[in-house]
Parts: sequence; structure tokens; C-alpha cells
Amino acid sequence: MDQAVNKATTRIAILGAGMSGLGAAAKLKEAGYSVIDIFEKSGGVGGTWRDNTYPGCGCDVPSHLYSYSFELNPDWDYKWSLQPQILKYFEDFADKYDVRRHCRFNTEITECRWDDAANSWTLTDRAGKTYTADVLISGLGQLNIPHTPNFPGLDTFKGGAFHSARWDHSVGLKGKTVAVIGNGPSAVQFVPEIQKVVGKMLSFQRSPAWCRPRGQRAYDAKAKKYFAGADWRINWYRWRIRAFADFGFGAFLQKSPLGLADSMKKMCQKHLEDQVQDPVLREKLTPDFEPGCKRILISDDYYPALAKPNVDVLRQGIKAVTPDGVIGEDGQEYKCDAIIWATGFQSTEFLTPMQVYGRNGLSLNQAWKDGAEAFKGMAVSGFPNLFLLYGPNTNLGHNSIILMVEHQIHYMIQCIDKIAEKGVAAIDVTPSAMTAYNVRVQSEIAKTVWASDCHSWYKNEAGKVTNNWYGKTTDYKKETRTPDWTDFEVVKG
Ligand code: NAP
Repeated sequence: MDQAVNKATTRIAILGAGMSGLGAAAKLKEAGYSVIDIFEKSGGVGGTWRDNTYPGCGCDVPSHLYSYSFELNPDWDYKWSLQPQILKYFEDFADKYDVRRHCRFNTEITECRWDDAANSWTLTDRAGKTYTADVLISGLGQLNIPHTPNFPGLDTFKGGAFHSARWDHSVGLKGKTVAVIGNGPSAVQFVPEIQKVVGKMLSFQRSPAWCRPRGQRAYDAKAKKYFAGADWRINWYRWRIRAFADFGFGAFLQKSPLGLADSMKKMCQKHLEDQVQDPVLREKLTPDFEPGCKRILISDDYYPALAKPNVDVLRQGIKAVTPDGVIGEDGQEYKCDAIIWATGFQSTEFLTPMQVYGRNGLSLNQAWKDGAEAFKGMAVSGFPNLFLLYGPNTNLGHNSIILMVEHQIHYMIQCIDKIAEKGVAAIDVTPSAMTAYNVRVQSEIAKTVWASDCHSWYKNEAGKVTNNWYGKTTDYKKETRTPDWTDFEVVKG
């Protein structure tokens, strides 16, 4: 067997030049693969950090951990960095690892089809052009398609309206009455910024969420010099953040050990009490579900912004849009000049709207009719040589997703090495391995707070938790250390 030759000729297609796609390309190159095409529908790298440009946009995971373990950055300006610096990190990464030359920008893949005879994938872009690959990797993640509910009258609104993830900077908000629909992690970041400029803000909150302090801090030149002095300093800091967050994972279990869930709830309650003096507003902002069921908000300035006199918090959703405003669930019209949809993403639909067809023309939509699932979050039975990064049941509510993606890349490259072996060409996870894995995942998830009673983007409409991993990041690391080849079958073309 001459694996070097096969590695050099294995054609790898990666969808998306965001965090996962860039990391995968860099590590594949390091592993000796060179025929790599990254299909990116936009004109640049960075994915979600390129798309989201709303005021105050940043990460709610500390930056020294929200970065690759193999590309440490001593120069973060803040503990919780802001979008421009995070985007720059990924842009610099693409340059340093020479990934850009693999990118086909402004190329949106609309269909991927497995060719049973040729043992390869055929990709079709929006213009109808086709490409062939031996291995298909999705770096599309879970949060790339914004969700704007299709309310009656949506198109009749006369003012400016846009989704938070596609911020329309041409819409002037100064002095205007602005309705913000939704109160998730995106809203919590931009509301304090725009509250300072709008005339009035109407914050529609269908269900208020738990919020804990952020403790933002800037890193001065001395701190940056300290981190730059030796890698172990960043690695030690990363280890502490990761270990502390994994320890805190117990707060997300229904039978929480060591009173961790209670402590989390008390911390959030105290934060609300400290920051909101008005008992009526406090009551409005008190959630009616257990902390963690939805992602816990992290902010020092969200509650103070909501308490300002130019903000009305409306504990209700909306039911329609009119030319002049929105109709609340109370049936009243609330006039406004602009509407900002902070209504999240089509998180449970994963690769949609792209169409994916596997062996014997099996459609992924059909395979996932009862909710998306994958083996180790990465492989789907019936879809050979397909790997999903940040796929089903790999999201976290407590730690850095980049850790999970690095574990996936490590596992996936071992699979691709297998594919590149002489006489293999294609592998497919067996139906029994896939079923056994997902039965286990769902039974573990039933023990977590994500399965409790609230509406969240972690669940599909039927209530199945399709997005989250059930444990600590170290559990997933163990899960993905080495493939067990009995979980896979070799597919003959
Ligand atoms: P989200 O958490 O899904 O929040 C959407 C909000 O819109 C919720 O308050 C939801 O209300 C509301 N909503 C949805 N449909 C509605 C409807 N039909 N009528 C009224 N309200 C409606 O979305 P997000 O804030 O964009 O955050 C999504 C995820 O993106 C986060 O969990 C996080 O993983 C990621 N994110 C990360 C960062 C970061 O710092 N790393 C920053 C921003 C976002 P209900 O709660 O009642 O459903």
C-alpha cells in the first residue's frame, strides 16, 4: 500500500470557510492531504463571525479557550472578545495555514449526491456547475441560517426590519422607536448598545431567560506580554477555564450533584436582584423554567439597559406585523420605526436548505424525518464518506465548541486515512452502530436540563434534543479518540 500516493490524490470537499471548515483544512493539510476544495457561499472566511456584525457582537466563551489549541493567541484584547477581533483571528489563521487558496468563494453548494458506482460525491452549486469529491465534510454548523418567523403582514411593514445575524447598518436607529423581538444571547449583546441611541425600545420577550454576570475585563500590554512569554501560560489558563466549565456541567443535570444547579440559579437570581430595583420589572424578567434549559445569558449590562426609562419590556411575543408596527400577543398594536428580529436560527435543520442524497438516492431529509442524528455527531448511516463538524448532538451549553470541533477533526482524519487506504475508498457507519449510539445519547440527554420543560433551539418541534451533547467535553474527547472499525463497513462501488 502506498498511502502517501492515495493521500495526495484523495479529493476532499469542505462546505463552509468558518471556524470548523478552516480548522479541518489546516489539519488535513498537516496530515498530508492536498486536494482540498472549500466551498463558501460568501466572499470571505470567518463564517458566523463574518455574518454577525451587530453592535456589541462578541463571544460568550473566554477567548483564550475560544481559539484553536494549535493556534494560541496571546493578543486577545478582552477576556470575552468582540466580533472584529475574533473575525481577524480566523482571517489570520486562513493566511497562516495557507487555506485561502483552497477556497471557492461565492460558491453555494445546493445539492450533494453520492454516486454509488463511482464511490464519490457530486456537488452542484447554485449556478448548476458540478464538482466531484471522494470525501465530503460539512463545516456549516448549527447556527448559519437565520430564523425570521413568518408572521402575517411581515412584508407590509413600512420601516426598516432586519435579522440580528444580518444587521442592516443602513437602517438608522438614532432617536427611533425600535421593536426587538426575542431575548436570546444575540439580543443580550446588542440591546445595551442600541438602547443608548434609540428613542424608545420595545423589548418583546416571550419567555425571559436566566442571565449571569460576565465579568468582562481588558487585557493590557503587561497581560499580553505575560501570555506571549510561553505557550504553557495560555495552555494552563485554557486548561483551567475548560476544567472549571466541565466541573460546572453538573449544574445542567436534572439530578445535579453538589447543589450546582441551585448555586447557578441563586447566582442568576442575585444578578437580577442586584441589577433591577423595580419589583415589577424584576417579576417580568424572572424565567419560569430551570436555568440551563435554554442557553444561560452572560451579560453585565443587559439588565441595566432594560431598566432604562426609554425601554419597555413586554412579557409577550407578537402575533402579526402591520405597516406601522407589530401586534402583540395581547392584541394591541405597538407602533415602531424599525423591527429587529433576534429570533435565532434554523438550528435543528442542520444542512438545510442544501439537498443531500446518499446510497441508493436516500435523502438526508428522509433519513432525518424524526430529527437529525449522527454517529458521534459526525457520520450518518447511508451517507458514506460524509463527515459533519459541529453536527447533531455536539453543541454545548457550558464550554467552548472549538474543543468539540477539534476532537471531531482528530477522529475524522483517522476515518479519512482509512478511506485513503488501498482497497477501501468508501466507509459507511453501520445502521446498528448508529442506532445504538443515538439510543445511548438520547437516554443520557433525558437526564439533562435540556430535556426539561422549555422551548429552546436545542430541540426540534417534536421536543427531541437534536443539538446538544450530553456530557463534559472530556467525555466527548474519550468518545472520539479512536474509531472502532467494527462500527463501519467498507462500501464497494
Ligand atoms: P435564540 O437563543 O434562539 O433566541 C431567539 C429568541 O427569539 C428567543 O428569545 C425566542 O423566544 C425568540 N423567538 C423565536 N421565535 C419567536 C416568535 N415566533 N415570537 C416571539 N419570539 C420568538 O437565538 P440567538 O439569541 O440568536 O442565539 C442563538 C445561539 O447563537 C446562542 O445560543 C449561541 O449559541 C449563539 N450565539 C452565541 C454568541 C456567543 O457569544 N458565542 C452570541 C450570540 C449568539 P423563546 O425563548 O420564547 O423561544
